[in-house]
Amino acid sequence: MSEEKKEEEYRLEKDQELRFEVEARATATLELLDGMAEIFGTELTKGKKYLFESCSKVAVYTWHGCVVKISFVTEVAYIADGTPMTVYVNVHAALEQMRQKADEERSRGPRVMVVGPTDVGKSTLCRLLLNYAARLDRASVYVDLDVGQGEVSIPGTIGAAVVERPAEIEEGYSLNAPLVFHYGHTSPSSNYPLFKMLVSRMAECVNKKTEKSKKCNVSGCIINTGGWIKGAGYDSLKHIAGSFEVDVILVLGQERLYSELKRDMPDFVNVILLPKSGGVVERNQHQRSDFRDQRVREYFYGPKKNGDDSFFPHPTEVSYNDIKLYKIGGTNILHHVFSVSTAKSIEDAVLECNVYGHVVISGIDPDKLTATVLSPSPEKLPSSILLLMDMQFMDIDM
Ligand code: ATP
Repeated sequence: MSEEKKEEEYRLEKDQELRFEVEARATATLELLDGMAEIFGTELTKGKKYLFESCSKVAVYTWHGCVVKISFVTEVAYIADGTPMTVYVNVHAALEQMRQKADEERSRGPRVMVVGPTDVGKSTLCRLLLNYAARLDRASVYVDLDVGQGEVSIPGTIGAAVVERPAEIEEGYSLNAPLVFHYGHTSPSSNYPLFKMLVSRMAECVNKKTEKSKKCNVSGCIINTGGWIKGAGYDSLKHIAGSFEVDVILVLGQERLYSELKRDMPDFVNVILLPKSGGVVERNQHQRSDFRDQRVREYFYGPKKNGDDSFFPHPTEVSYNDIKLYKIGGTNILHHVFSVSTAKSIEDAVLECNVYGHVVISGIDPDKLTATVLSPSPEKLPSSILLLMDMQFMDIDM
């Protein structure tokens, strides 16, 4: 593909959105020339060039009008009117009122769960609400229970972190000390009892965090869920709502789910149906799997940015005696990702312990009884207990 980029300027009127998708193996550069604009709740800085990677799906929204310039290899961009942004910002304003009340009454801020089928913009709405809250100096707890396309850590985990600053335009959230639990699969239905147990455990941990920090308690939680909403999936949503004692449920794009939740939730839970944005891009199974691979790659190599190659995984040879590999439930270990558990021993309720991070077994030497472990850190493994995940990572970049 030719790398010759063409430049195009777009003038947006108030309440308009410029949507663009970057083609596979291409990049696009965006610059705000005039006015003010934001991407999923993070403000753009005038004159700064933002680089978007292959397959990014982006919406530049403006409340008052702006001019932006995009440099593309090939161009797929259009300006849209009629976005649901005003509805979303009204939700943010209502949540902010709940936070102010919680501040005055020394009580708990809103606990919001975002639900809906796949590809309705759940993660994007979470990002918008977290960013708007952070711009008002709130510190909301982001709980991501989407084990397939989660954002806190790699797929196959559930995670939570405090969001004190808006996400970076190119790199997403800079999450400090996230709490991550190993699940091991990319669908909650693969081991539903384990998924439920981890949700309950995560809720306990979030409660401990909010009890300790008044700011987090008042700011509340934003809980992202996966698109599994039928049968046991619906049961899982009720379990999440109960465990986190949510008081607001935002249902995106499905009236049936909205009416079921309205019927089944206690009265104090405010169930709200919100329109889906016409810009949300549907992804097929292949794209979802590519996205997961990209998340794992990013975990080891950092986000691709202007050819920055300062992050890379470190191979270390470890003796078989120094590691204990576990698969929950049912072993082929080569090229599989493992979670490094904080558990001190296998008797130590391993599943309820969070994880330090993730490594890959990239080689084994049966003669020397050693394994080569790829880790984002050059340090010695912090624990010998490694839990097998379904995900694999072949390091073709080395
Ligand atoms: P999943 O069920 O897989 O978790 P989801 O419901 O969380 O999906 P998102 O991940 O929020 O959906 O959105 C799907 C894709 O659409 C993302 O790549 C996101 O960047 C893109 N997207 C969301 N809103 C817009 C918009 N207004 N314009 C252009 N792209 C958008």
